[in-house]
Amino acid sequence: MNSLETIIHNQIMQHGPMDIGQFMAMALSHPKHGYYVSRDPIGSAGDFVTAPEISQMFGEVVGAWAAHSWVQMGAPEAFVLLECGPGRGTLMADVMRACAGIDGFCDAAQVHLIEVSPELRAKQGEVLAGYDPIWHDGLGGVSDDLPILVIANEFMDALPFRQLIYLDGAWHERVVSVKEDALVFTTRPAPEVLWPQFGSPHFGGIYEFSAPRLNFVDAVCARLKAHHGAALLIDYGHASSAFGDTFQAVKGHEFADVLSNVGDVDLTSHVDFEPLYEVAKTQGCIAQPLMEQGDFLRIMGIEARAAYLAQKGAKGIEADLMRLIDVGEMGALFKVMDVRYGF
Ligand code: SAH
Repeated sequence: MNSLETIIHNQIMQHGPMDIGQFMAMALSHPKHGYYVSRDPIGSAGDFVTAPEISQMFGEVVGAWAAHSWVQMGAPEAFVLLECGPGRGTLMADVMRACAGIDGFCDAAQVHLIEVSPELRAKQGEVLAGYDPIWHDGLGGVSDDLPILVIANEFMDALPFRQLIYLDGAWHERVVSVKEDALVFTTRPAPEVLWPQFGSPHFGGIYEFSAPRLNFVDAVCARLKAHHGAALLIDYGHASSAFGDTFQAVKGHEFADVLSNVGDVDLTSHVDFEPLYEVAKTQGCIAQPLMEQGDFLRIMGIEARAAYLAQKGAKGIEADLMRLIDVGEMGALFKVMDVRYGF
């Protein structure tokens, strides 16, 4: 057992089984041994590769979205450009580079970052040194006296979620327990207030829900409403709530066991966008219909950009483009939610 597994083991022995959300929060964000706290997981030498790391074209298209939104907002002289979970800082760097030609944009943008990992904060500091970024632990710290544009790519999937399983005519919560010194799943009855409000479950059906993701979108919407603003939330997931187990662990670009090598594997689940839309609606924000990443990137002109870069002699552009937009790659699994207020 590694140090983090011992800590979790002891906590379960003392307080009883923990829900998947508590387990995930410890595995990813434990202040000393958490997965994100202790490493840079992104890139070919790490555990997973993200869209901005595949190609600069992704950030350039997001830059086009940001520039367009800024102009639509009336080109304010100062605004907050916030990225949540900026990883290596690549996406923000590409956005700022792509927008350098938009008169006034870069001078107006105050770059803010929400990041849990000291290691990644250091990396972001190097890559974005020219823009004097300001870091925060959460949305609460971001000042609300200016208009705002928010970007988040593969951030929400890392926020903790929980699972219920339908057994013998009732929902039970899947929790992490200890058996013969190993972490195992077990179940306990779930209070009715947690039960899903959709569908008719079959035996063994799994329902996933995430208060932290709802709270995040709720806080983003509240922040948009403080003035005006827009958010671009990109992640893998589904448009409509459905039953199914999407809890996944990734290590070295391969799927791994979710309860083994705790703190050394990435843990996520697919994002259910349906309740996020309900949150945006309740807040009175306007959410554009959910788009597949492939469609979003195409509509925003990525193919023209790819053709230009290829013509300039850039290598591997066609393959990178396919990874980003092909339905068999990232094009359909990844979704784009655009939510805005005031314009
Ligand atoms: N957006 C980047 C990185 C995605 S990985 C990219 O596309 O390449 C997830 C990012 O979110 C990492 O930077 C991770 O450290 C950060 N993160 C995960 N959970 C977080 C939390 N609870 N609070 C703040 N940042 C978090």
